[in-house]
Amino acid sequence: MDSEPRPALAGPDESAAAETEAVEPPEPPSTILPRLFPATVKERERGASFPQSERSRTFRRRFFPSATAIHWNDWRWQVQHRIRDLAELARIIRLSAEERAAVARHSGPLPIGITPYYASLLSETDPAQPLRRTHIPIEGEYLTSPGESGDPLGEDHHSPVPGLVHRYPDRVLFLATGFCSTYCRYCTRSRMMGGGEMSFSLRQWERAIAYIEAHGEIRDVLLSGGDPLTIATEKLEWLLARLRAIRHVEFLRIGTKVPVVLPQRITRDLTRMLRRYHPLWMSIHFTHPDELTLEVAESTARLADAGIPLGSQTVLLKGINDSVPVMRSLMHGLLKLRVRPYYLYQCDPIRGSAHFRTSVAKGLEIIEGLRGHTTGYAVPHFVIDAPGGGGKIPLLPDYVLGREEDTVVLRNYEGRIYRYPDM
Ligand code: SF4
Repeated sequence: MDSEPRPALAGPDESAAAETEAVEPPEPPSTILPRLFPATVKERERGASFPQSERSRTFRRRFFPSATAIHWNDWRWQVQHRIRDLAELARIIRLSAEERAAVARHSGPLPIGITPYYASLLSETDPAQPLRRTHIPIEGEYLTSPGESGDPLGEDHHSPVPGLVHRYPDRVLFLATGFCSTYCRYCTRSRMMGGGEMSFSLRQWERAIAYIEAHGEIRDVLLSGGDPLTIATEKLEWLLARLRAIRHVEFLRIGTKVPVVLPQRITRDLTRMLRRYHPLWMSIHFTHPDELTLEVAESTARLADAGIPLGSQTVLLKGINDSVPVMRSLMHGLLKLRVRPYYLYQCDPIRGSAHFRTSVAKGLEIIEGLRGHTTGYAVPHFVIDAPGGGGKIPLLPDYVLGREEDTVVLRNYEGRIYRYPDM
């Protein structure tokens, strides 16, 4: 593969026709968005196809003056105008000396790639801003610390055919593409992202499908990558239809960050297609409350309205979201967008990630700060994906203190002690 592969817009056989989705008719008023973002009402009254926040509009006019609102709301325009190198980054952000040096020396997989929309959320002046830290490299990315590796989850050892990970008996991970519209610097699969060690092709999809067809114990297929929602709608539909046709596959899941970094991709065409393949679930990768914008509220509303149960996945990151107030704000915001907080991951020991990793105790402290103090739905499962391929291991603060004769001694969220009869 080239150092930066073609976008997965065309799907793996590179023959997809461009999607045709012009300006969409206005939707009936949403019950949720106007309350969260009053500006939505005005947008809809103007017949806009996708809402655009004041921040996005200002950013577009300043840095992409020839782009119209229609360009901006076209997900293909967003992909084609990704910020990908030092010159483009320096045009929109005052880079620190460290960022500048780290970006300049980058080569190989996990390239720099940020959609203009997501770039509009980055601080122009503050290198410590959470979203900026997760998407612009610093020198720490080039340091390998003890315990780190390129494939910390041992996925390559559980891969019966390229692009398929079969770690748990009844489910598989289907890596559909190595392309993301926006690359996170802590990506667990950085080795294969954006021109990494693995290529993706229709032939590979066929082999993975054949493996699933031949294994009747597989009842759950998780499509991930890279980001499956960067694949052209018709190609993605081809894949979903093939998987749905396998009798023993009970349901499909998609893991994605597109609704957050490229919300304009959640077109009516896409949701109309997705709803044909229920039961279909979606896990959306969120990092910080600053991501919960008007545009993201629209993308998640469209997916939820298509009947897709939405869950969140968040990686715990040092100095970015590793505090109870930040995590609570994110989880509360997700519930308002109809996204159920699902997993909080301890950061995998991927090579060059030490500057992102917190202690395990920090994750437990956050869970303890949420559990009992807020709605149960707002508390994700805190897990470590065991290095080497042991799967997800849930971690909980110690609420069971021990036994006393026929009782279990328990501690509640306030630290009070209770005894429960347990004969
Ligand atoms: S969106 Fe997911 S797959 Fe893509 S770079 Fe980020 S963590 Fe990796």
